[in-house]
Amino acid sequence: MNNTSVNNNMTTVNNSNVVNNNINSNNTNVVANSNLSVNTANNNFNDLATNTKKVINFDTTPIVDVVNYILLEASRKGASDIHFDPADNCMKVRFRIDGKLDTFTVVPNTAKSNLVARLKIMSGMNITETRLPQDGAIRTTIEGVALDMRVSSLPTKIGEKIVIRIMDYSMSLQGLESLKFNDINYKKVLKMISQPNGIILVTGATGSGKSTTVYSILQRLNTPDSNLISVEDPVEMEIDGINQVQVNSEIGLDFATVLRSILRQDPNVIMIGEIRDSETAQIAVRASITGHLVLSTIHTNNSLSTIERLLDMDVERYLLSSALEGIISQKLARKLCDKCKRIRPVNEYEKNLFRTVLGLEVNQTYEAVGCPECSFGFKGRIALQEVLLISQEIRDAISNNLNREELRSLVYNKDVITMIQDGFYKVLAGFTTITEVLKLIELDDEIDDMKK
Ligand SMILES: [Zn+2]
Repeated sequence: MNNTSVNNNMTTVNNSNVVNNNINSNNTNVVANSNLSVNTANNNFNDLATNTKKVINFDTTPIVDVVNYILLEASRKGASDIHFDPADNCMKVRFRIDGKLDTFTVVPNTAKSNLVARLKIMSGMNITETRLPQDGAIRTTIEGVALDMRVSSLPTKIGEKIVIRIMDYSMSLQGLESLKFNDINYKKVLKMISQPNGIILVTGATGSGKSTTVYSILQRLNTPDSNLISVEDPVEMEIDGINQVQVNSEIGLDFATVLRSILRQDPNVIMIGEIRDSETAQIAVRASITGHLVLSTIHTNNSLSTIERLLDMDVERYLLSSALEGIISQKLARKLCDKCKRIRPVNEYEKNLFRTVLGLEVNQTYEAVGCPECSFGFKGRIALQEVLLISQEIRDAISNNLNREELRSLVYNKDVITMIQDGFYKVLAGFTTITEVLKLIELDDEIDDMKK
């Protein structure tokens, strides 16, 4: 599909005269970023790609190199998504980095259609189809960097908008330890995944890092003596030793259909990409009580709402109460940059928060500063987690249909570190800031919950 070799393509990227002329004559015909500088010494793509301060000249750079440059820069900057937004007289290219979307460059009209066509070719889409949405994927190596991307096109009134999701496995490849569970939670996770059967759910919103957690657990369970099968939509990461099945709704291959077949394949561990409907929920729970360990994700906020959501999906109480092994809930906070973060004293409000949430007297905390290596003092993200190991009391409460408040008091007993507590511990450890934690978690609700 894509066999471009960048190193063999020596391209004239720019020289100072051309660049200056372009900037003067047409200010849409720019730009790698706002720190414009001019490359006079080297004219090849390597230099362009390794120095973001240089300018793309869209008139002279082959579109193949422009696209490779954008993809590579996005990956190097740790972007999770690249947006190509059509406008009347240009196309904006934006990167989402640590959850925040920022303009990277602006492509002039002259290069717009070539750029879209190139992206569609690379991702295996039909380039003649411009009126229907399409999905595709790019798997390639550019300058030794392996890239795995999901591509989606959407026809808007002023042209096709392309969004690329960059699959980044660097976190999951570092193993379960790298997910920064606190010690108590980590022990609970190890205990739940050592069970031969039952269901373990990872919950959180879209983009909360659920897949990373699930893949890290799968890696841990991926031993020669076990048969692991996954059904996913899409397969986000290929792992040796796991039989991964891609859902294909166009031919009727949905989660439920695949799951029924998987059960005849003698699996030990089954991973279901996401539980979205009642049928999948019911098969998942049944599979987990017939000798399989089932791992899946579900779109809920915390442990308690996960139990309620499954019951809403018509999973029978007695089945759920015996099947459920554990729930890992998570949200992602921006991580303070280690290079520039700075200690400062806490104010009275923050002092009180630490007292209320952790019962600790805290006098200082870290603040974001900002340096050339990070974005506004933050670099990367860290998960705030809540881990629930299902106890016998909780099983009884589920099967006996105890009311929400009773269930809540069992779920949030003294052994549980709530997500906000985990967040504040991570503030204390200098991983993130109070503001970041409070952006993610409604303070009033959580503190009310803790008092009950
Ligand atoms: Zn920094």
